[in-house]
Amino acid sequence: MKARSSATTPKALNGQCTCGAVRFTVSDAFEYAMNCHCGKCRRTTGSAFKPMGGIARAELALTTSPDAMFLYGDATTHDAHCRICGSMVYSQVRDAQYAHVPLGVLTDTPSIRPTHHIHVGSKAPWFEITDDLPQYQEFD
Ligand SMILES: [Zn+2]
Ligand SMILES: [Zn+2]
Repeated sequence: MKARSSATTPKALNGQCTCGAVRFTVSDAFEYAMNCHCGKCRRTTGSAFKPMGGIARAELALTTSPDAMFLYGDATTHDAHCRICGSMVYSQVRDAQYAHVPLGVLTDTPSIRPTHHIHVGSKAPWFEITDDLPQYQEFD
């Protein structure tokens, strides 16, 4: 275990898929973070919602071969998954300028925390939001 304190902010965060065939680093400089409750994010993750952080695409770098991934979508906008275990490792969005990283794939702890909930209008009826973060019916 690495010692951590608030005085030592990591410059790069590690992330990986379930099996480890896809690994990447991303700067600990997310511009925003939120919990998305839309049906797509729920189905992709199998969870009530997807906590994710947004950052310039150039701040994310694969450390394994791109051959280990398959892209769901087109060359510009897609979800990148591990070809072997299926984990979604990031989404390339906003004309390929940004990456949305599901915070659950990070093995290091980002400085940012989700600040709001989006697409609450389509959230799972069996899940109750119990925090006080702002909620938006659709996108922010
Ligand atoms: Zn994998
Ligand atoms: Zn979503």
